[in-house]
Amino acid sequence: MKYSIIDFEREFPDDDVCLDYIFNVRYRDYVCPLCAKKTFYRVKGRKSYACSCGHQVNPLSKTIFKNSTTSLRLWFFAMYLFSQSRHGVPAAELQRQLGVTYKTAWRIGHKIRDLMKQNMEKSEGVFELDETYVGGKQRRYISRNKKNPKKKIPVFGILKREGDVFAVVVPNTQRYTLGAYIWKIIARGSEVCTDEAGVYNNLDQRYVHHTVNHSNREYVRGSVTTNRLEGFWSFLKNAIRSTHRVVSKKYLQAYVDERVFFYNARNSDVPIFHLILQRLTR
Ligand SMILES: [Zn+2]
Repeated sequence: MKYSIIDFEREFPDDDVCLDYIFNVRYRDYVCPLCAKKTFYRVKGRKSYACSCGHQVNPLSKTIFKNSTTSLRLWFFAMYLFSQSRHGVPAAELQRQLGVTYKTAWRIGHKIRDLMKQNMEKSEGVFELDETYVGGKQRRYISRNKKNPKKKIPVFGILKREGDVFAVVVPNTQRYTLGAYIWKIIARGSEVCTDEAGVYNNLDQRYVHHTVNHSNREYVRGSVTTNRLEGFWSFLKNAIRSTHRVVSKKYLQAYVDERVFFYNARNSDVPIFHLILQRLTR
């Protein structure tokens, strides 16, 4: 759903409105622990709210804004920029748009990505499973080797049909590594579609297991396909390529989380900006 800069400026004109918003979403059903009243008032000159009995609440505690000297409205604007971007927002772009130092912009970017962390619960259904490799940081001694110009980092994905995608950076693609995620996310008895890689050949113990033979160009056999997940891999790789060029292994999961968040939100009726704001309550 569309949410324009005009909408943003109307909804969040200044720091006070942003603070009220955070207080309202985090303390919606809050009851004063001292006197059981539900009405709180903004404390003048402070970023806190108080009950008439004197009990105070700081709505920024345990949030990404804690201890930040950057204005709340700039933080909100940064989240707005994330919500509008097709491929993510590099720190240099945030620096330019917010008028802050590169270091601050970099920190804000990663704090916002923290909000987008994945949390896929176990469920039953039809799933696609696949791994891919994302270009790691270019290293000079490897770049001389034409066969393997970049160190590739494995990423494992699980996509639920008519549902969400989950993706995780893994140290390797061995059976026990991938299995830990598979058992955690896919309920016993579900249908799973994979390619013919040996790592998946024990899945029929718990699931109805279908395989596609990629080497025979047999990408689609009825509903046995991993095409949707392949689509997500393209989406992920395009974004990383066009925004960050190179991503080190240390930060790759944060970028993967960000893309998963956007992919899973693609058909939402709620503007992505508001979906990001909703994560502030966690
Ligand atoms: Zn009270």
